[in-house]
Amino acid sequence: MLETVAAACILLAVLWAGCCVEVVRKLAKQLAPLRALYATFCRRCPYTAETLERFVEIWDMFVRCSDASLGFEDRFAIFCDQLGDFLEGLVQRAVDVLELFFQLDAAEQAAALCRIPRRRLSAAEARSGAGPLAVTSCAICLCDWRKGDDVRELKACSHVFHTKCCDNWLWRHQKCPMCRTPLATVPAS
Ligand SMILES: [Zn+2]
Ligand SMILES: [Zn+2]
Repeated sequence: MLETVAAACILLAVLWAGCCVEVVRKLAKQLAPLRALYATFCRRCPYTAETLERFVEIWDMFVRCSDASLGFEDRFAIFCDQLGDFLEGLVQRAVDVLELFFQLDAAEQAAALCRIPRRRLSAAEARSGAGPLAVTSCAICLCDWRKGDDVRELKACSHVFHTKCCDNWLWRHQKCPMCRTPLATVPAS
């Protein structure tokens, strides 16, 4: 009797394992087109990776902040602040990204945008002006530079803007929002 039960259990276990493998196989088959779609999306929109990096940066600041003078509450306040900016930018960009995804010729545009150098302003630049033209503020939001501002410098015309201020425009127009010099004149690096 005991042997029969054991045999039945083993049989059931084997059947169960077989079912699981079959289900996983079927799922993988279903997921393959999704994976391809995601790969296409990432190819068309390399900015996705940058967005993710930014989020990791914000999260790291909150969790692994090396500044001992900042208490939990301070860090949490900064985190909420930065997260708010981040989400705002994300919503603004979401429509552009979706548009981009459905445009067949968009890969070139996205790549062009990602080739524009992006950096953080130094204290000296914030004080005495950024880029070869030494401009002291962002021409789009009119805010004066602050140390650590995230900016892009357009090599063709040397104009500097906050990344979050100029990217939406650059997605669509492929030229400087101020002097209209085409981005296409920027050589691929
Ligand atoms: Zn700005
Ligand atoms: Zn310009």
